[in-house]
Amino acid sequence: MKLATIRNGRGTSTVRIDRDAAIELPFASVDDLLRSEDWRAAASTGGPSRAIAELDYAPVVTRPAKVLCVGLNYRSHITETGGRAPDHPTLFAKFARTLTGAYDEIVVPEAGSARVDWEAELAFVMGRALRAAGPEEAARAIAGFTVANDVSMRDWQNRTLQWLQGKAWESTTPVGPHLVTPEECGAAADLRITCEVDGELMQDARTSDLVFGPAEVAGYLSTFITLEPGDLILTGTSGGVGAARNPPVFIRSGQKVRTAIEGVGELVNPFVLSQRGS
Ligand code: ZN
Repeated sequence: MKLATIRNGRGTSTVRIDRDAAIELPFASVDDLLRSEDWRAAASTGGPSRAIAELDYAPVVTRPAKVLCVGLNYRSHITETGGRAPDHPTLFAKFARTLTGAYDEIVVPEAGSARVDWEAELAFVMGRALRAAGPEEAARAIAGFTVANDVSMRDWQNRTLQWLQGKAWESTTPVGPHLVTPEECGAAADLRITCEVDGELMQDARTSDLVFGPAEVAGYLSTFITLEPGDLILTGTSGGVGAARNPPVFIRSGQKVRTAIEGVGELVNPFVLSQRGS
């Protein structure tokens, strides 16, 4: 099953993507649907049909109670940043307001960052509550997978040891377009994930290179906080980010970033940057 949150002029609504049509469901968002009693049954009902080409995608979840992220989680990315495989996942958080739609323009405002970088990431969304769970129970609690780009303002990120201020800018993390249920994508265990900037391939990895996989991450998080339906978790990025290149490369105004995971979906986001001193 493939689900999406779309903008409808009055707000947002949820659709199920069938082969060639989008079927509207009576929920304001995918996270709203996931918080319902039996979301799989609720997502399987009939409803008004819309043409897929006309959909305006909102972030796949609009009001997650939590957006949690893993840093340094691909063996290839750990190597390029000079580290060694960690004993524990590096964690940080974003906010619902940090998210944006799969095809939205990403605007970094005046007094913004001069080092805007890309991070293609597999993300997943919880379908039920989870606390103190092992990986098998955690795997069953994952509603589905989606594509994210953890767009990072490196100058802000590296101001202090904590990364938050470089990772949480308003409407800069595209996520979507679809939530793809585990049985449709092999639980995202071994999928190609890529990031292109103006057509140039910058990241190219497989999700099997993750140090901590989705179920392991969810189980780990659940040891210290209850994960709730609709919670969004980004699993980290692979090698090939701009800051780790020699010389470093950052996104310029007018460039278009495409982030894709085979069988899950793609994001295409034009960037508009108003950089300091320009
Ligand atoms: Zn990241």
